[in-house]
Amino acid sequence: MQAAARAREATGFSFVTDVYDMKLAPYAVCDENSRGRRFAESPPRYRSEFQRDRDRIVHSAAFRRLEYKTQVFVNHEGDMYRTRLTHSLEVAQIGRAIARILHLNEDLTESIALAHDLGHTPFGHAGQEALNRCMADYGGFEHNLQSLRVVDELEEKYADFNGLNLNFETREGILKHCAVMDARDLGDVGERFINKQQPSLEAQLANVADEIAYNSHDVDDGLRAGLISVEQLCEVNLFREQYEHVINSYPGLPRRRVIHEVVRRIIDRQVSDLVDSSRARIMEAAPGAIDDIRSAPHALIGFGDGMKQLNLELKRFLRKALYRHYRVMRMSAKADRVITSLFEVFMNDARLLPPEYEGKMKTQSEANGVAGRARVVADYIAGMTDRYAIGEYERLFDPMKAT
Ligand code: MG
Repeated sequence: MQAAARAREATGFSFVTDVYDMKLAPYAVCDENSRGRRFAESPPRYRSEFQRDRDRIVHSAAFRRLEYKTQVFVNHEGDMYRTRLTHSLEVAQIGRAIARILHLNEDLTESIALAHDLGHTPFGHAGQEALNRCMADYGGFEHNLQSLRVVDELEEKYADFNGLNLNFETREGILKHCAVMDARDLGDVGERFINKQQPSLEAQLANVADEIAYNSHDVDDGLRAGLISVEQLCEVNLFREQYEHVINSYPGLPRRRVIHEVVRRIIDRQVSDLVDSSRARIMEAAPGAIDDIRSAPHALIGFGDGMKQLNLELKRFLRKALYRHYRVMRMSAKADRVITSLFEVFMNDARLLPPEYEGKMKTQSEANGVAGRARVVADYIAGMTDRYAIGEYERLFDPMKAT
């Protein structure tokens, strides 16, 4: 109570648990305290600045392509698995719910969640690793940086600028992590990595919502695919607690419903812990404005110690049992071969690229030589969906296929 009273005194604001109270906390990002867009635009007439950001993301080409990009399971393995698109929607849903209860900016949280994976290569992490290896001598490839590149440069839709011209806070949230070396080239969004500052609470929240979403849905998808079993998962405390609760409360419940009940309870437990722990930390720090969030020594949004451990245990299990399952590894090996071959073929002969890349190739290689050429090839490959990449591979390597 003492902390709550202090927080109220410092900020003139106190938490209420009514989710219909839309009043933003004084340290939330809002249109008034936003650092704005790179290119000045007149304010939207019927929306907030961050609603506009969200809408631009939803209407982007990169967002539509998420539908055919892998999360863990390659798109053609089945219609029921998560893709990057449904993953991003789940992150947005979890993020929004928490943003509202903590009186943070829901539209910003949603924008970051919907855009956070826009720079992902086809074939999930295997694709990212392969492309990063191909780009080792040319500045590397990192999907966070690429997501920012998509919204800052690669979308070509607007008359007045390249990219989507999003607000600083949305771009800052998309750039989840970044090496100091890369940060120097990024201007305003890179500064916090150099100055060791925190991003907005909305960015911190979208980051944890991402984790909650993928840990939970990978359990669901892994079980559905038969790559992991309930018996194995019962070694994981977070799963076993909820599983035992469900089968004891509903004896004879069909398996699919049991799994859904368990997964939704796992999400609920993590979300509840996140809300309670973050709220306690915010009250303790008693920030008065967004600058206090940025200069705080650590992130204020996060799990409590107990949940941090449970979460870590689940992650370790998934890494060992699911992400390194031999069937996932086989798919990763194929993905690696496709990405590496495409990269080599386009680097050896840029004339094989679609004609719209000709101009970019010319400008980039004049400016940055071979590294510039490599970046254009990486942008082309990173933008591909799983099935487009497979199609390109066939068109380039299978003599019987039309080109
Ligand atoms: Mg994600």
